[in-house]
Amino acid sequence: MASLILRTRVARFKSDAGANPNTCFDYLDDAVVEVANGKITQVESAQILAEQGYDLSRCEHLPNRLLMAGFIDAHVHAPQLDVMGAYGEQLLDWLDKYTFPAELKFAEPDYSAQQTARFLAQLHAHGTTTAMVYTTSFAHSTEHLFQQAAECNMRLLAGKVWMDRNAPTALLDTAESAFNDSRNLIDKWHGFQRLGYVLTPRFAGTSTPQQLRSAKELVAAYPDVWIQTHLSENQAEVEWTKTLFPEAKDYLHTYEQFNLVTEKTLFAHCIHLTPSETDRIAASGAGIAFCPSSNLFLGSGLMNYSSIKAHQIPVALCSDIGAGTSLSPFVTMGDAYKVCQLQNYPLTALEAFYLASLGAARTLHLGDKIGSVDAGFEADFILINSEGHPYIHQRIASCKSIEEELFVYMTCGDDRLIERTYIAGQPIYTQQ
Ligand SMILES: [Zn+2]
Repeated sequence: MASLILRTRVARFKSDAGANPNTCFDYLDDAVVEVANGKITQVESAQILAEQGYDLSRCEHLPNRLLMAGFIDAHVHAPQLDVMGAYGEQLLDWLDKYTFPAELKFAEPDYSAQQTARFLAQLHAHGTTTAMVYTTSFAHSTEHLFQQAAECNMRLLAGKVWMDRNAPTALLDTAESAFNDSRNLIDKWHGFQRLGYVLTPRFAGTSTPQQLRSAKELVAAYPDVWIQTHLSENQAEVEWTKTLFPEAKDYLHTYEQFNLVTEKTLFAHCIHLTPSETDRIAASGAGIAFCPSSNLFLGSGLMNYSSIKAHQIPVALCSDIGAGTSLSPFVTMGDAYKVCQLQNYPLTALEAFYLASLGAARTLHLGDKIGSVDAGFEADFILINSEGHPYIHQRIASCKSIEEELFVYMTCGDDRLIERTYIAGQPIYTQQ
């Protein structure tokens, strides 16, 4: 028995039609989506159903909307909502001046719980139904995030940040405490409902070799946890990392020597990779978080998406707030388009939406559960309604195809386009 039946337009990437966004894309201009027990049970053309005797009056009819899979933001920092739009620094100074002070406030548990609720509400308002999240080095901030994500039955991956050097003392953990805190969080939350744990050394520069050795032991004990960290974001960071790990042959090797480069690893940025590093990431099966808004804002550089794609490295398109300037995947897609344009790669709307949904899900090895509007998939989806955005509402009247419409959304759109967000078939956000 369906708990939810919607009739509207549907745009989706079919889960059984390969990885080419142009060929796995499917658009239905009048479709019925049925949900039961948190999963999508049927997606079918309304006309075909009517011909079969289906009673269309059972549906909530929402003409002129567009139903799509919920967005997946695979690289985002929960404690950094309030550093978005902070002026004037590049990566290493940015961390010292804005990020670490913001994360220090999470030492206070009440503040941490409140900010976490605010973070999740913001994700939902922007149409993001799954995220892979960095919390802080305080274990309770990860606890708060898992607890609150479980309450709304969200599919969410997160990890406590590991950091035992080169940050304010009050933010530092140790090789031992990071291991123990993470083990406790894994035992409690990894695999609970729709949650998963992510081993999260911030980046090589803030972990000692001893701590990375401890991370290696954790992965050996829990081989199915995800791993996330940053890699080759900024030229000064790359040089600094070499001085901290003089024995490493390059930046990637600082992680390789501790067995942290696996197919469950997601590296953020990867702007200044050497050819050898790109080849080794491709061989490992690890994925890359493409964070164009953040990279532009911090002046880090332009990730070479077409080269990474040519190496068949899985890519997810991500906000990386607070250095990113918006939680809206539309804004991230628009910035991705501009970064690719500067490198003579005209990113299509279909490819951008794919990287923010099914492509991201596949990068996280969740492509059989989320990222598509298909029978058997978890019922995480959004309803886009251009009426909330007067400029776009008028602009799309002249679009001649769904591709043109999606391109306007991703280059001119923002959260005003999100009318509703559903998680596991339940409305978690409705625009007022
Ligand atoms: Zn980041």
